[in-house]
Amino acid sequence: MNRPITGELQALDRAHHLHPFTDFKALGEEGSRIVTHAEGVYIHDSEGNRILDGMAGLWCVNLGYGREELVEAATAQLRELPYYNNFFKTTHPPAVRLAEKLCQLAPEHVNRVFFTGSGSEANDTVLRMVRRYWALKGRPDKHIVIARENAYHGSTVAGMSLGGMAPMHGQGGPCVPGIEHVRQPYWFGEGRDQSPEAFGRACAQAIEDKILTLGEDNVAAFIAEPVQGAGGAIIPPESYWPAVKAVLAKYDILLVIDEVICGFGRLGEWFGSQHYGLEPDLMPIAKGLSSGYLPIGGVLVGDRVATTLIDDGGEFFHGFTYSGHPACAAVALKNLELMEAENIVERVRDDLGPYLASRWSELAEHPIVGEARSLGLVGALELVADQASGARFDKSLGAGSLCRDLCFANGLVMRSVGDTMIISPPLVITREQIDELVRLARQALDETA
Ligand code: PLP
Repeated sequence: MNRPITGELQALDRAHHLHPFTDFKALGEEGSRIVTHAEGVYIHDSEGNRILDGMAGLWCVNLGYGREELVEAATAQLRELPYYNNFFKTTHPPAVRLAEKLCQLAPEHVNRVFFTGSGSEANDTVLRMVRRYWALKGRPDKHIVIARENAYHGSTVAGMSLGGMAPMHGQGGPCVPGIEHVRQPYWFGEGRDQSPEAFGRACAQAIEDKILTLGEDNVAAFIAEPVQGAGGAIIPPESYWPAVKAVLAKYDILLVIDEVICGFGRLGEWFGSQHYGLEPDLMPIAKGLSSGYLPIGGVLVGDRVATTLIDDGGEFFHGFTYSGHPACAAVALKNLELMEAENIVERVRDDLGPYLASRWSELAEHPIVGEARSLGLVGALELVADQASGARFDKSLGAGSLCRDLCFANGLVMRSVGDTMIISPPLVITREQIDELVRLARQALDETA
């Protein structure tokens, strides 16, 4: 791990590699950080730095790096059967075993799973499935999906359209028709003129207003993340989800809860929807399903939709070459078994989540922090120029990006979304490592101030 390797790889990277979500020109000027290896909750770069990965990669390496059991599950399966598909009337043991395991862990009304290769593909599947469901019910007009501003549901055309990221909508459009967006329950960013509870109810009311504008007979489903991840670790006010649930039931609209980030323990339950007492009809999953060791996603399908698709549907013309890929499924199954054996979900709920909450909330006292929030092992800091008024920094200062870069330089990966700093560490992090994370975050705040 020395400079020549860094320089050589950076030059090749600059010459040939178009990175996702990257300003290609800036990449050329600055060069990429080359991550070479990792263990536990730490990544290492080609300059010899060890960095605490406060983001679990991209919210996915839940069991941490270097788990031999997952490597063995992959290699054993690659030897046995590296590939076969699940189209038509064939399948293979890992896909079946994983489907069984997922349905065992999922809420009672979920007994079927459709596999995909990623979270984006899972949300493409969702869009087609909800429309197919209502068509089979003899109500093809019920086709509009309501989603939320600033939501992230992936980068495929359907995922991007379901998502509510304005900059994404502005590139490579047009978006898929029949998708409407409503306001997000982001109290600190958009609701401070009222109490969090009143704001949560107002956001649910916005969904009802939208349904009434569109006509309930035209609305198929509402899709949302339990806690918005990429949008800024936005934890909704307690009043939000009960009110949303009531609105959807009133107008017979399917509930899709995107569990790609919140699933598999992140909020201290197997699924984020369980934390909020929701019973989704469809749950897209990915990321933590395999702890990111191999790419796999899927849609957990509740009985209501599954029964109609199966009994009334005939062939659903949809699927991916890598739906339920054997090696990915074997790794995911082992990942879930390890999570159970190590009581990961319970540890997040009963120990690590409350511990992070107590340590993280100390940062609220820092002069440039307007709010410090967390739930389970996801957290955010809102950077402000003036704590008393909550006024934001001038956008041109790029306070969030600066803080993120200082974190990285000090040995911590924290993500910035505008001036919101986010953490989502591996679920195997220890209390001592949480202390280290908070210390490094505070140091970056001091240096940013
Ligand atoms: N849904 C949510 C909530 C996500 O956060 C993401 C990715 O960050 C996706 C879907 C898309 O998943 P993928 O990148 O695996 O396609």
